[in-house]
Amino acid sequence: MRILASFAGVRSEMGGAPAALVPTMGYLHEGHLSLVELARKTSDVVVMSLFVNPLQFVQAGDLDRYPRDLDRDAGIAESAGVDLLFAPSLEEMYATPPRTRIKVDGVADGMEGAYRPGHFEGVATVVAKLFAAIRPAVAVFGRKDAQQLAVVRRMTADLSFPVEIVGAPTVRAEDGLAISSRNVLLDSAQRAEALTVSGGLFAAAGAVAKGERSAGKLESIVADEVGAGGARLEYVTLADAAEAEPIDVLDREAFLAVAAHVGGVRLIDNVVLWPDGSADLGTRLEGPSILGRT
Ligand code: AMP
Repeated sequence: MRILASFAGVRSEMGGAPAALVPTMGYLHEGHLSLVELARKTSDVVVMSLFVNPLQFVQAGDLDRYPRDLDRDAGIAESAGVDLLFAPSLEEMYATPPRTRIKVDGVADGMEGAYRPGHFEGVATVVAKLFAAIRPAVAVFGRKDAQQLAVVRRMTADLSFPVEIVGAPTVRAEDGLAISSRNVLLDSAQRAEALTVSGGLFAAAGAVAKGERSAGKLESIVADEVGAGGARLEYVTLADAAEAEPIDVLDREAFLAVAAHVGGVRLIDNVVLWPDGSADLGTRLEGPSILGRT
């Protein structure tokens, strides 16, 4: 595996071969590794980018608290089979302070967009830069960030980037919690509270399997479970999978998305639901994390 800090270096190492890109903010976990595995199925060259993008952080302190460890990440990326690890400095990514932002209307407005104004402009802008500068054939994103996936798909189509967007299932820890770089910030009592988020979503998916289709009812199931555990619910919304807009009835592919605060940590999670009663809850690790933390 080569570690590169410049766009030119990545392109020259790619040598024109079609590559799959896995964009990340680092502090790698099994969720990221599943993206690499999927990327490998599509392409001979797998490029992972690792950049904590200040443009997408909107909450004071969140950027500073974000965990970072390049040496650890490089070891994990190499054993996962990443060919090229692109870890640019802030100056390489934003050589001049950017005055251009990519704004995706509608898809980016609700849920995360409503509670974190400007967040998706930061995401869409950095992803567009990665696509333009690295020119991957494929890019893999996690469904854990379902609205982000919808925003990236729409931005890619609207700007005619010749990149195939692949969505990867959410990877969960053994106890059901969606794996996130932020989970290391939870103590054990907070982790128990955090489990009401995934637990609420699983209960809602169970209700769908039994015939429930009302968004209001599904949202209440999650809100009740999260509220009972003590976490502070920010939103729970049933949204159209492609448009990321709220729907009243589960009559098409949708995701039920939650954001909640546990201690000082903001967690998001979702399950994908279909009107035939089926659901995609993601995949669970069968044992403790091989990385020693989830
Ligand atoms: P991040 O480093 O948090 O920006 O995430 C980088 C990519 O990994 C995004 O496409 C995320 O959706 C994806 N990702 C993060 N956590 C998970 C997870 N638990 N399962 C699957 N994909 C994930």
